Amino acid sequence: MAKLEAKGLRKSFGENKVCRGINLSIDEGEMVCLIGASGSGKSTLLRCLNLLEPIDDGEIWLDGEDISVPGLDPQPVRQRIGMVFQSFNLFPHMNALDNAMLAPRRVKGMTREALLPEVTALFRRFDLDDRMDHYPDQLSGGQQQRVAIVRALAMRPEIMLFDEITSALAPELVGEVLDVLRQLRAEGMTMVLATHEMGFARELADKVCFLDAGIILEEGAPEKVFGSPERDRTREFLSRVL
Ligand code: ADP
Ligand code: MG
Repeated sequence: MAKLEAKGLRKSFGENKVCRGINLSIDEGEMVCLIGASGSGKSTLLRCLNLLEPIDDGEIWLDGEDISVPGLDPQPVRQRIGMVFQSFNLFPHMNALDNAMLAPRRVKGMTREALLPEVTALFRRFDLDDRMDHYPDQLSGGQQQRVAIVRALAMRPEIMLFDEITSALAPELVGEVLDVLRQLRAEGMTMVLATHEMGFARELADKVCFLDAGIILEEGAPEKVFGSPERDRTREFLSRVL
């Protein structure tokens, strides 16, 4: 059984058909990379997967349960599926530690004291323990994005979605954020990434999906999609970005 699965997922904004029947299956512990041109629907798909956007048609299954049934409370699902965006969106008036503790305090009603050991351990795990009392404007972009990842992990998600999380970073800061993803993958986290980091996807993805105009046109092992793409559109895209 897949950990997370989209079946025939459709999503439009007005006349704009953004997801036109997406079938995507993510197994436990897998890292799946979504690649494709800007506007192909990667962000919308990710947002639909953790119920940030209502879908028009199709189904989304999490651990064998249909989470797209009408009337289902999205909140418990969103707690199980963490998401990190291109813009870090840390609260500027809170230090890194308070940023990371905010969601579990609010959503799970946990106290600072109860959270402190676990959240501190997360900062240590990602080499940020000397930055916990820093405010966002005292941190580099790479550090802010790593804090944003820690913040998502503080909710103890079972799955993490990453939407082009290195796209806003200066080139020299990309590596430290990719290292965090590498570490999470090694620890067995189930992850879906929309990414333009083709080298990273090729090296680490279990599966690569090429999105084109709202459908997954081609998917498979990275060696196959990058090494011997079957579709002209895939080849065209790769020749533009590689
Ligand atoms: P990608 O992440 O691959 O660049 P997106 O999912 O962001 O693609 O966008 C796909 C299309 O959906 C674009 O045409 C975009 O303008 C449109 N779109 C995305 N979000 C919204 C929204 N909230 N309202 C209206 N249109 C949207
Ligand atoms: Mg996007």
